Amino acid sequence: MDAFDHPDGLRAETRKCEKHGPYPVRTKTVRGHKFISGSCPACVTERDREVKRAELADARSSLETRLARSAIPRKLRSCSFDTYIATLPEQQHALRSCRAFAGDFERERANGGVLILGGNTGTGKSHLAASIALSVIAQGATAMFATVQEIILMLRAGWQRRNGPSELEVLRMLTRVDLLIIDEAGVQIGSDAERNQLHAVIDGRYREERPMVLTANLSAPELLDVMGERIYSRLREQGQWVPFDWEDWRARRPPPPAPAFQLSP
Ligand SMILES: [Zn+2]
Repeated sequence: MDAFDHPDGLRAETRKCEKHGPYPVRTKTVRGHKFISGSCPACVTERDREVKRAELADARSSLETRLARSAIPRKLRSCSFDTYIATLPEQQHALRSCRAFAGDFERERANGGVLILGGNTGTGKSHLAASIALSVIAQGATAMFATVQEIILMLRAGWQRRNGPSELEVLRMLTRVDLLIIDEAGVQIGSDAERNQLHAVIDGRYREERPMVLTANLSAPELLDVMGERIYSRLREQGQWVPFDWEDWRARRPPPPAPAFQLSP
């Protein structure tokens, strides 16, 4: 029990803060010793605010660090689910699937969920993949965005060890990031060595049960053909295929304007 809880010998007094002026305290004298309870409320508020400001700055700088490390291309950094135009039912389904994946990322992280955004070019797959990455980063997790070519180049640079991290370190980084986005996964893979490198990344993440999102301008059988049975079966085991089968929005031109007047036939 706090001595100040007992009313005997309790007195209300006023103290003075050099900065904020007078403030009330309670004092109690016990066997000749005077105890004081209370401090300048304005000082307490200021201190709390300072702590909150520091915490916010920490959170922001860690967010910026995670964003910088994510390697999301600049032109995709302003993407969001809200700016994805979904008018067709298939587009709405794609948007819903991607939103759900990002929205329940803790579950995807626990299960090592895989989302494959596959189909026609110009349907906004990278837009949605970047939106997932940005959402996951905002939630406090780490994400990395790379094309298949970039992954292969990173591993090759590591193998050649030009000052940077070793191949194993690159592989470890690609395996450990909370979410790996593999963009343009449908490009033709040049050699068996490159296919093996990609397999090492996907297999590493599969074994660690870490989530992945892939985009591919291909149908499922075409992706199987490009990636090979080994990689593809790994992906499909945990993977949800989200079809992007509608027409390329860039190919859709507005109808030609009607002539202002027509000569009578
Ligand atoms: Zn004060």
